[in-house]
Amino acid sequence: MVQVDQDLCIACGLCFSTHPDFFVLDTDGKAKAIKQVSTDEEKATVQEAIDNCPVGAISNIVVEESTPVETPIIGEAPIVIEEPVAPVAE
Ligand code: SF4
Repeated sequence: MVQVDQDLCIACGLCFSTHPDFFVLDTDGKAKAIKQVSTDEEKATVQEAIDNCPVGAISNIVVEESTPVETPIIGEAPIVIEEPVAPVAE
């Protein structure tokens, strides 16, 4: 997730002037990320902005989907399937 820490941003204009597809000048006078990366090329573009920001205000936090982990069930009783009881004829 591309983010700009607006407390750190000094509004130098570098990111939004060089990468206007990703950053804009927000109404509060600080840079704001407007797009997330979806390709390797976009990732490289944002990384360039991260590397060039003079105050380190830009970050790209990669959020990976968690993989479900199978938890072994310990001590569970076996499942017993009972046969239906046939009705008794009289
Ligand atoms: S390069 Fe950094 S300091 Fe400059 S406007 Fe962008 S986020 Fe703000």
